[in-house]
Amino acid sequence: MTKKQKKNLIRIIVSAVITVGLMFLPFDGLLKFAAFLVPYLIVGYDILIKAVKGVINRQPFDECFLMTVATIGAFALALTSSGDYLEAVAVMLFYQIGEWFQSYAVGKSRKNIGELMDIRPDYANIENEDGELEQVDPDDIDIGTVIIVQPGEKIPIDGIVTEGNSVLDTAALTGESVPRNVKSGDEVISGCINLSGLLKIRTTKEFGESTASKILDLVENASSHKSKSEKFITKFARIYTPAVVLSALALALLPPAFEWFLTGNGDFLKWIYRALTFLVISCPCALVVSVPLGFFVSIGNASRNGILIKGSNYMEQLAKAETVVFDKTGTLTKGVFELTAVHPEKINETELLHLAAHVERYSTHPIANSLRNAYPDEHDSCAVEDTEEISGKGIRAKVNGNIICVGNEKMMAYAGAKISQCEHSETVIHVSQNGTYMGHIVISDVVKATSKEAVQSLRQLGVKRTVVLTGDSRKTAESVSKSIGIDEFYSELLPGDKVEKAEQLLSEKKSGGSLLFVGDGINDAPVLSRADIGIAMGAMGSDAAIEAADVVLMDDDPLKIAKAIRIARKCMRIVKQNIWFSIGIKFFLLLMVAVFANMWLAIFADVGVMVLAVLNSIRCIRNT
Ligand code: ADP
Ligand code: MG
Repeated sequence: MTKKQKKNLIRIIVSAVITVGLMFLPFDGLLKFAAFLVPYLIVGYDILIKAVKGVINRQPFDECFLMTVATIGAFALALTSSGDYLEAVAVMLFYQIGEWFQSYAVGKSRKNIGELMDIRPDYANIENEDGELEQVDPDDIDIGTVIIVQPGEKIPIDGIVTEGNSVLDTAALTGESVPRNVKSGDEVISGCINLSGLLKIRTTKEFGESTASKILDLVENASSHKSKSEKFITKFARIYTPAVVLSALALALLPPAFEWFLTGNGDFLKWIYRALTFLVISCPCALVVSVPLGFFVSIGNASRNGILIKGSNYMEQLAKAETVVFDKTGTLTKGVFELTAVHPEKINETELLHLAAHVERYSTHPIANSLRNAYPDEHDSCAVEDTEEISGKGIRAKVNGNIICVGNEKMMAYAGAKISQCEHSETVIHVSQNGTYMGHIVISDVVKATSKEAVQSLRQLGVKRTVVLTGDSRKTAESVSKSIGIDEFYSELLPGDKVEKAEQLLSEKKSGGSLLFVGDGINDAPVLSRADIGIAMGAMGSDAAIEAADVVLMDDDPLKIAKAIRIARKCMRIVKQNIWFSIGIKFFLLLMVAVFANMWLAIFADVGVMVLAVLNSIRCIRNT
């Protein structure tokens, strides 16, 4: 409980005790009025102040205004006729109880999510001149500093292990509890917990740019991207409150005036009381609170499953997924290629691998990593200059003065080399030197263990069309698509062709459904932003892809796509339930007032609806 919540709780209790006490005292007349004002002011003074401020700022129509008018009206009625002040105090009291409950529930769920996503690093250890460990603010650590992470501590900044072996718990980031072994030379990301050995890590990023900080930023700012439902609520409240006030005025004046006109005797007091009851009921708090809360809790739940959803506006589209388009390499496959065959021409095998590894020296493409690994002595003294990567085709560089091109058939056409065909159905990488064909290297990628299941579960969720778009050859695209059950594939696409294909798929989907694109590479960024929802692979994925995406999967597991859709659907279902339930009950009660008015019942119903709606929203935290 926060200080403010404690204070408010005390106010509510004190006011309630005084009110109950007053019911047994034989006060009468003005004395009674003054006595009941005490608990009323204790519990409601802040509402009165807010209402006055609202009027001064020319934005009077909010719930504080409604409560103030209703309770002051009830006091006035009691003073002039019934003498029942209890009602006015009780209305304010119940209203505050509702507000308190709501702030408690919201605070609690925020805290819960914060705890679940326990990745915020508080300090970093460095070794000082005396060889002792010193804790410093991670914000003060420069790139390239060696930090020390002891067993049990969180890795504060992204970096590369320089010394030590250990096992990392990545659950807070990915939602998966499979521990990861790391050794010297491995990349590690912040937010993981070091489980066993002491690690020395050379930082490669600043604290603010590190994974943990970025994720927390994303989650905290997610609620600033408002969804349509939230915008609807804001608009709704803006029109709704003035409309309610006008209706209340009409209710107070028109029926008794009509009575008076007919019979010469109108019961104004009865209708004013009804109008006040009407005001009490009309408070839109249930909606205003529960709808944003539902989104917030769902985003938190997704993050703890390793799915970052960058805003509540994406929930709606995610829930309506109809077409899911995949990039192949690194998305459906592991992106870790194994050497399958080497077919050199003019030179020997080792020389061919040597050329390929060198051209790829500076590339981060998954194929580049594999080709470098295929040649053990990549770090020799050969000169590699003028590297140029050509998206969707391959790469070109000057190695020891010769122009070497490495890539697919398109790359060879660009280099002017005449290729020899290969009978393998895996990925074939051709090599040319100064425009002369030097042979090819066959590498094969492995389909991710969960890809097939991922496609199946998407289908179970009602996704109608699954498509692969790839820059790779037709043969590989076909064998991967068939093996995991994807409907269609388009191969040998340049990055621009991928956008064009995505546009076409977008135009072919039925109205109402949405198109999801899942990818990992830099050249996927344009499609990621063009799709209704772009989903990037967070671990393998390039920064550009993660930046352009609306949703990021921290552990690159394609099964999480279906999970994200399920979380989004549950979120939308609960938000819609709350909207219809709150508005429905409201209208029902408002209609009831015309026939039968009781302010007690009104406030009870109002607070009740709000509590139910908030509790309903909190259901979003449970896994689907
Ligand atoms: P995908 O669409 O499967 O992610 P890309 O568009 O990144 O693939 O690449 C398409 C094709 O271009 C690859 O299959 C490969 O033949 C070639 N290619 C791209 N980059 C490189 C590289 N660095 N080295 C060798 N070949 C490359
Ligand atoms: Mg790719």
